[in-house]
Amino acid sequence: MSKYIRKTVDTWQIWTNYGYGWELECIEMSRKEARENVRAYRENAPGVQLRVIKKREPINEHVLYECGICGSLHRWAFDGDCRNDRERFDGPIEYCDKLKVDVPLNQIEIKTWEERQAVTD
Ligand SMILES: [Zn+2]
Repeated sequence: MSKYIRKTVDTWQIWTNYGYGWELECIEMSRKEARENVRAYRENAPGVQLRVIKKREPINEHVLYECGICGSLHRWAFDGDCRNDRERFDGPIEYCDKLKVDVPLNQIEIKTWEERQAVTD
């Protein structure tokens, strides 16, 4: 099991230009999704200009995700054994209690299992 904890996340911004200037259309969490999206734009809007910009962003310290294996919340950087009690949370309140985190609950972001899976590869 790797002990390395990622401090950044890669995202792919998709920009379009329909002739009225560049606009940010969406942000994808994987290269694959970005590519699929670009292909869809090309098919649905022939002539549109497209630009994909890769960004490396710091991970918000207080991001949790719903685990697709055990159903609990884990910290975003956690990629270990679900049986680790210290890394399993029922919700943001339990997260703060267990890890002695002192932040307003609305600072804690909860992401889906799909979003978490998208950045593992
Ligand atoms: Zn789990």
